[in-house]
Amino acid sequence: MEPIKNPDVKYTKLFINNEFVDAVNGKTFPTLNPVNEEKIVDIQAADKDDIDVAVAAAKEAFKRGSVWRTMDASARGELIYKLAELVKRDIVYLASLETLDNGKPFMFAMGDMQASINVLKYHAGIADKINGKTIPVDGDNFCYTRREPFGVCGCIIPWNFPAMMFVYKIAPALATGNTIVIKPAEQTPLSALYLAALIKEAGFPPGVVNVVPGFGPTAGAAISSHPEIRKIAFTGSTMVGKKVMEAAAQSNLKKVTLELGGKSPLIIMPDANVDEALAVSHMGVFYNMGQVCIASSRLFVHEDIYDDFVRKSVELAKKKCVGDPFDLKMQAGPQVNEIQMKKILELIESGKQQGARLQCGGSRFGDKGYFVQPTVFSDVKEDMRIYKEEIFGPVQSIIKFKTTEEVIEMANNTTYGLAAGVFTKDINTYQTIVNALEAGFVWVNQYLNSGAQAPFGGYKMSGIGRERGEEGVHEYTQVKTIFVKQPKCAKM
Ligand code: NAD
Repeated sequence: MEPIKNPDVKYTKLFINNEFVDAVNGKTFPTLNPVNEEKIVDIQAADKDDIDVAVAAAKEAFKRGSVWRTMDASARGELIYKLAELVKRDIVYLASLETLDNGKPFMFAMGDMQASINVLKYHAGIADKINGKTIPVDGDNFCYTRREPFGVCGCIIPWNFPAMMFVYKIAPALATGNTIVIKPAEQTPLSALYLAALIKEAGFPPGVVNVVPGFGPTAGAAISSHPEIRKIAFTGSTMVGKKVMEAAAQSNLKKVTLELGGKSPLIIMPDANVDEALAVSHMGVFYNMGQVCIASSRLFVHEDIYDDFVRKSVELAKKKCVGDPFDLKMQAGPQVNEIQMKKILELIESGKQQGARLQCGGSRFGDKGYFVQPTVFSDVKEDMRIYKEEIFGPVQSIIKFKTTEEVIEMANNTTYGLAAGVFTKDINTYQTIVNALEAGFVWVNQYLNSGAQAPFGGYKMSGIGRERGEEGVHEYTQVKTIFVKQPKCAKM
């Protein structure tokens, strides 16, 4: 499949009530091409006033008796399915737009779009399968529960998987009958705005989905503190997640779900299939230029195989083709922006200074665009910043260990708890490790794979709540319990 190298940008305005509109104050911000640092286009910038307008539209769409509120659940499912079909129809254009705005290699962007289609279809199917319960309570009572939508949901998403994150938020919210105000990341607004146009084309009523590009401290903060928003779903850094939770608590105690950062351990036991573990641990950290919340950014390798594993990991990193993400031969593109590139280079510097052994890479790649060389550190220790902090870049940190108990302790020695992995052929070892790891998602003899049906989310400071699967759907509902007085004969 060939990319469209210069995709036309069709939409640059806020999407409210199924119309593209200017921001109230008319302010704009540029979105940049991370390959050449040039402006792609100016985007209308939402601020507090725009969030008020968007929330009012979403509230109106949720009003009792509205088209959306009275629509059959199966009909909501059909609309979501239609949206999936439209994404499929425009998959090459959408993936090209994502590559332009984010810098990810085109085939990765195609993968993101396919994952988005899968997630939409899963939620299309589950829309009319969200059940309450009947509960056998004591006395002359009939008790049942209903899973009801919250109403207006606010969603705030990051830039690393722009379209995918957009879909992960809107699909369960729509399946459960909520309405939405969603803010894409300021670095990557383009695919979200195109998806907004597809939402209208699919036939969703006005106000059901409103897309408001803008900055975090303005538009984002206005969403998390809005008194009419009943639930907020945030994906991004732990630092900002805390602010979102605080604003949610201060404003109206809205329900909060958070998908935050990680520092995920991947453990390679001495009996592992080394070839597979090498390839998977390489992708685990270098996929999407390391800009992945679940990146296997701490790689623990048993001492018996350590030296060989480090040598081969370095060979893989050195072979990586870095360059123009529209070129299908390239396996890595640039980081998303200058701030991220500089943050990564600063952390690499700290690794060198704190005594980790730089095996390859370690610098900017070229002098135009935000490229960073694939970097491998060995001899990484627990007191180093590169062990503790989320780098969010193409930096592999390898740590040597001796025993199972020691590696469990080290793996859990982090404030995060998003994901983890283990490679071993021994069933007892894998179960011991899997059960001991403090992480919301654990892979065995693989890494990174997941599906629309499988719940995902973090332990500890990696998040609150789950996304995808039945658990993810339930996060967009609140339970109402109904007690009905029954005549005695009804119990028989
Ligand atoms: P970020 O926290 O800086 O920004 C995320 C979003 O929050 C953006 O839309 C931003 O505009 C907004 N924001 C910023 N300040 C805000 C504020 N004060 N109030 C409300 N909103 C605000 O994160 P990022 O740099 O865009 O993304 C990288 C981070 O996201 C990493 O930590 C990564 O691990 C995490 N992430 C987590 C998951 C997950 O599923 N757990 C997935 C992808 C990314």
